[in-house]
Amino acid sequence: MPDASVHSTVSPLEQAVTVLRGVGTDRAAQLEKLRIRTVGDLLLHRPRRYEDRRQFRMMRELSTDEPALARGIVAAMGLKRFRRGAKSVFELILEDGSGRLHCRWWNLPFMEHYFAVGDEVLVFGKLSGLKPRTMDHPETEVVQADEESAIHMNRIVPVYPLTEGLPQRWLRGLIRRTLEQHEREVVEPDPGLNVVGCRLPVEAGDAWVAAQPAPGTLPPVNRESTMPSRARAIRLLHCPETMADAVLARQRLALDEFVVLQRKIRQRRLRFEARSRGLPCRGDNHLIKPFLAGLGFALTEAQKRVLREIRHDMGGSHPMRRMLQGDVGSGKTAVAACAALMALESGFDVVLMAPTEILAEQHFRNFARWFNPLGVRVGMRTGGRKTSNTEPPLMPLEAPRTRQKPSLTIGTHALIETGFTTDRLGLVLVDEQHKFGVAQREQLVRKGNYPHLLVMTATPIPRTLGLTLYGDLDLSVIDELPSGRGRVRTFVRPADKLPKVWAFVGTRLDQGRQAYVVYPRVEETSGGATKAVLKEFERIQTALAPHRVGLLHGRLKSAEKESVMDGFRAGRIQALVATSLIEVGLDVPNATLMVIENAEQFGLAQLHQLRGRIGRGAHESHCILVSDIKSPEARERLRVLEETTDGFRIAEADLRLRGPGELLGQEQSGSPRFRFADLRQDFSLVQLARDLVSREAQAS
Ligand code: ADP
Ligand code: MG
Repeated sequence: MPDASVHSTVSPLEQAVTVLRGVGTDRAAQLEKLRIRTVGDLLLHRPRRYEDRRQFRMMRELSTDEPALARGIVAAMGLKRFRRGAKSVFELILEDGSGRLHCRWWNLPFMEHYFAVGDEVLVFGKLSGLKPRTMDHPETEVVQADEESAIHMNRIVPVYPLTEGLPQRWLRGLIRRTLEQHEREVVEPDPGLNVVGCRLPVEAGDAWVAAQPAPGTLPPVNRESTMPSRARAIRLLHCPETMADAVLARQRLALDEFVVLQRKIRQRRLRFEARSRGLPCRGDNHLIKPFLAGLGFALTEAQKRVLREIRHDMGGSHPMRRMLQGDVGSGKTAVAACAALMALESGFDVVLMAPTEILAEQHFRNFARWFNPLGVRVGMRTGGRKTSNTEPPLMPLEAPRTRQKPSLTIGTHALIETGFTTDRLGLVLVDEQHKFGVAQREQLVRKGNYPHLLVMTATPIPRTLGLTLYGDLDLSVIDELPSGRGRVRTFVRPADKLPKVWAFVGTRLDQGRQAYVVYPRVEETSGGATKAVLKEFERIQTALAPHRVGLLHGRLKSAEKESVMDGFRAGRIQALVATSLIEVGLDVPNATLMVIENAEQFGLAQLHQLRGRIGRGAHESHCILVSDIKSPEARERLRVLEETTDGFRIAEADLRLRGPGELLGQEQSGSPRFRFADLRQDFSLVQLARDLVSREAQAS
């Protein structure tokens, strides 16, 4: 390998960690496990937490509730091996004048080599027992009086993530020395932002630091603080003078990550616009006018506003890339229909992709009813079947040779998986976007010559995710529900109250209303689980007798599903027992009751979506979440639903409680990996990053 120093093009920060004194191949291999390969990576190694080594807890005052930092002298130590030496416990007894502390480690016999009687040891953890005062597997560090001790003592000290064999003290020393050595070059990775002077967007403090031990002792972050430079942020990250410095550092470095991401999004968008031309799809109203006249209701102001945004895009010079967000029941379908008509009026075909067959069927039914009187053909294509016994007859699957009038084709993912083509595709509508991966969406769009794209999502996406994961889509929000909707009240009940719940549901069914009963966690592929639903089904039939109860689950054949749904729509079936299949999009206004069993097994957003099936008519609706779960977190989650029906608030809560991975599911797991950014709390930082990037673009 050539000597790195002769290559002046390699910045000092891009050099491998092995250029650092004291880092050989063994250490480098350990650092690699922490994803630290270069000097720059090392300087961005984010502390896991901080310890204020100016304040210690007396051993006498340690508690079993919260972790704390103490210091003491090793009074005694010993390793005990159990049968055949396979198991062991190493015990260290520390003394600080106020009392003794027993520290124990199981099956880590080599711990013995780290300590000697008489050593001064720092220990961090919480007690597992009081008599004697004991900590199991605490974090420890031996105090050493050497020339570097100023790095490790009498100040706020960073505690880094480690890997096997890598001592905390060694890593801290390395980072500190490297920082000092490269202080000037640290400016280099600065993405060139001039944020100095930007207000720090602290809203409710920083969860990261708030989660530090003894938060009461932390100084509040000064809201008047301004952003430090990147170089200063990196210094503050590793040697903060106050905890507020650490917050500031994290936020600044998170901001840089968001800026990098926003620039990427922006560039992707620009590239896309450079190679594509918008098809002229703004329409001339000759179909929309009669459509709206026959609709039976007037569009809400929010629906009209969103339609103006869509029309503007569909007549623009670049293909529309827009996400339509609106809470359950806000009337996204009518908006989608108008968008479709704009393209159809302009002579282009439209496809609508729905995540389930049931939903595709329902859309087919609605759109056929809406569009056939206008002389527009509506076709259907799903994985389950290619022909339909519903009126009107299906259009041929392949676009006919001689071009006929433009048409709408509705389908599931089969639309992308099979050889469906159309040569004048003007608009792609994707319903319930969160069920599809970004890749699937792109695949569908590639079928045409850059058609316009409108993705609809019923689960509101928290603003932070909206601006990061979906940052390349423009956003339209329907923030108003049609008037005349009955209230939805939500209650959480334990399972032993089920008889009362069924009695209540029974009285409402007597009054002519209908009910959904949702049963979670059905592995749609396993026969055993289906049996479980069947058993539940019998139980519920008995509980609700003499009312007629139908059953809907994924293993039914399409025709069976459809006949159950028909029965429910027509009111022949009063209660529908279903898996979460009904989660999306079903629309039966007379259904005003929903019982969700084992509700804790669903995510909040999903529960909100399920609950969106009721409250669609004028009658008051009731949603009963049945759950026996005792954990405070699960209770808190369900309580969010009792308290609000605002999908955006629920989505934010879901993000906070479960994190972005859970919320988005595997399909979306392409979410960016951040070192410092935290999608749970960094909305203002994302916004700031966006502003900075667009200002930067305007300046250039
Ligand atoms: P979602 O946004 O959840 O997809 P839908 O499009 O299914 O909602 O609409 C829910 C119900 O509200 C449907 O029955 C629809 O016909 C009705 N609806 C839509 N817009 C209006 C409106 N402006 N006024 C009254 N009812 C409306
Ligand atoms: Mg819908």
